[in-house]
Amino acid sequence: MGKSQASRLKALRARLFKERAENRRRNDLFDKAIRTNDLREVGAEMYRYFYSVFSVDRGDITILTDYDEREFYDLIGWTPRDPLPPGAQYFNWAQKHCGYLRGLIEEQIFIGYRPEEERAIRDSLLLEQSMLECMVAKRPRIVNDVFTELSEKEVEEARRQRTESWMNWTLLNPESSKLLAKLHMSFHKARRLTLQGLAKQMNPFENLLRYRILHTRDFRRVKYLSERDALTGLFLRPVLAKRWERLTENPRRSRKKTVVSLGMLDLDLFKRFNDNYGHDVGDKVLRRFAQAVQETLRGTDVVGRYGGEEFVALFPGASSEQALSILKRIYARIKDMNFLPPTAWAAGGHPEPLRFSAGICTLTLRGKSGRKTFDEAIKAADDLLLHCKQSGRNCCAYWDRLGAVRKHRFD
Ligand code: GH3
Ligand code: MG
Ligand code: MG
Repeated sequence: MGKSQASRLKALRARLFKERAENRRRNDLFDKAIRTNDLREVGAEMYRYFYSVFSVDRGDITILTDYDEREFYDLIGWTPRDPLPPGAQYFNWAQKHCGYLRGLIEEQIFIGYRPEEERAIRDSLLLEQSMLECMVAKRPRIVNDVFTELSEKEVEEARRQRTESWMNWTLLNPESSKLLAKLHMSFHKARRLTLQGLAKQMNPFENLLRYRILHTRDFRRVKYLSERDALTGLFLRPVLAKRWERLTENPRRSRKKTVVSLGMLDLDLFKRFNDNYGHDVGDKVLRRFAQAVQETLRGTDVVGRYGGEEFVALFPGASSEQALSILKRIYARIKDMNFLPPTAWAAGGHPEPLRFSAGICTLTLRGKSGRKTFDEAIKAADDLLLHCKQSGRNCCAYWDRLGAVRKHRFD
């Protein structure tokens, strides 16, 4: 074997080795995306990837955007097959677009989206137009040198943006050929990109994105199932415990006091529903009750199924009186409701009022003082609940400011 051949082999081996390491790194990235669903982290990784693959320093690249095409077009009421909206509408369009993207960051964005980039989108209307065109054509577009390839007006704008080159890339759904995502990158120096080269460089990113798109739905489903009770759809105990810890651990740095209440609700004499009409009717009653509670709570409240016919609600910022007034609303909602399903009526059922009793544990938090763990708060609420059960049910008990037990009968 000649010397030059040996060194070529060595170089080849080194390249393969490097590629393998790179693939492994990418696979780790995929794994991370699934395990943590922390897309911001993945976004940061993708940035690193782009920086390395396009050999640019941080300051020389602006990555603008990506989104789910279907939701996006639903939102703006426009499909790529329609003609481009007239120029006057671009501005509005861009603004909507920004708000929407911000929403996506929380939800399912694939690349991190920084405020300065968002501003850049808003300011760069011509770039936006060029992106739109690229979306309509469903083809990537490369502008290697704005000064030779673009109109005077565009050059002017590009100069303002300190952009000499850019590329728009589109990701199509292989099954439907629908546009799934797009990415815009502008560079502060003229470049020599080719469509072929771009395709190769974007390949791993495409894979990641396709992968994300396919898995986002599944992931959400799994998350939902792991957090919710199968019968009622309410949160499970561990989720409640976690929320409670979060509510009480760091109530706010200031020394101002914060209150938070926990209500434990238990259906009164619920066993009779099962005994009289069967377990499946009992299940339906539970489901209807859960739904009624959910629809009555405020947006910030959280409700879960603690066990059989016991429910726990967390009321951030609510004193015991305020929590009581929410429970009164629940009572008002259910008191005349017919919980029995038609099957039970057909089998000779008759109106069965459903009632519940509740204990409310309220904490007044000042920094670290006044805390109770979730289990301690549950225990306290449960003790109060017991008072209700012993004194005729259909009522709610809580402590007043002096620490005396107070009871409120719902009717
Ligand atoms: P109390 O007013 O003292 O709370 O009376 P109760 O009958 O509600 O209390 P108890 O704890 O004796 O009975 C609770 C019943 O709830 C027992 C069980 O039959 C029923 N239950 C618990 N979980 C489920 C469920 O998932 N489905 C159905 N159908 N019934 C359930
Ligand atoms: Mg019970
Ligand atoms: Mg009960």
